[in-house]
Amino acid sequence: MQRKQKKHELARKLSEQLQRELEIHQELKQAVHMEQSLKDEQATREELQEMVAREESHGRALQMQVYVGCPDWTGSRQNWQPLQAVQKHDYLLDKTDRLERASASHLQLQLFKQPCAFGGMRYATFARMQDGTRLVAKRILKEGRNLERNRKVLEADVRCMCIANRIADGFNQALRQTSLPKCFKEARVTFNVPSIMTVPDDDAACGKAVYLLEPHLPGEWRKWLQNDGSTFPGRDVPALLEAFVHYSYHDSRSDGDVKIRLMVLDLQGNLTQNRGPGPACSCFQLTDPSISTVADDTRFGETNHGIEGIHKFLHGHQCSEGMTRGW
Ligand SMILES: [Zn+2]
Repeated sequence: MQRKQKKHELARKLSEQLQRELEIHQELKQAVHMEQSLKDEQATREELQEMVAREESHGRALQMQVYVGCPDWTGSRQNWQPLQAVQKHDYLLDKTDRLERASASHLQLQLFKQPCAFGGMRYATFARMQDGTRLVAKRILKEGRNLERNRKVLEADVRCMCIANRIADGFNQALRQTSLPKCFKEARVTFNVPSIMTVPDDDAACGKAVYLLEPHLPGEWRKWLQNDGSTFPGRDVPALLEAFVHYSYHDSRSDGDVKIRLMVLDLQGNLTQNRGPGPACSCFQLTDPSISTVADDTRFGETNHGIEGIHKFLHGHQCSEGMTRGW
């Protein structure tokens, strides 16, 4: 009877111990599971934060330009601030489309005291030279503290404009080889090629400010295509510009030995009619294009929307009749 009781007691203790072990096992399992979920959550959060930062940056780049004023070009000096010790650097592309600093010079100019336009990433101010030359100076909205880094940011803009202009040269020549009507064959697309100017500036964190400096485009300023490849609802993109963007995708650029596939987007500027003998031809004088590349490439700045930008344009694009060779 006593043995039976002892056995029963032992069985009860073992059962309790087993129950405790099971509980510990369950707790451990829960702890491991929680840790894993926390890790997953952390990874998802980091991924989301990265996505938000990327979207914010693209969002800033996408914002429309806002014009706030028009200068009185010939107005008195009180509206114009003379700049001292302005250093200007010109750039050019070498044969393989690498950007080179070509020359440096000093110039005298005056800056209109109020900015004339705000974009998502730059603001613009009109500038005039003593001989009456009209220019536009563009500065980074959120300037960093490092002068060289600020200059690199603007050099990405210069690179986009120089490459877009080189592609436009090829496009204008290719147009002449087509059997299109004369008004198309003699149409032209050109891009401003800017310089970079460096000016002492007490308000700048690094004591100097850098600006893009480019010719002022006279006439009505218009924007036809966004930098993410999308168009404006209800606003047609002229056939010539549609063809140009498609052409830019097929006109492979090289960088040293490496071919890079890209597309010129963000088309804005003015349209004039070249009135020579015969029918009027469209002349698009453009500025501030963006370039999206198939492969990741940071040299074209924050407005490179990559393959997504290229797809977005091609998705909404239809080749015009008569624009041969797949433009
Ligand atoms: Zn096309």
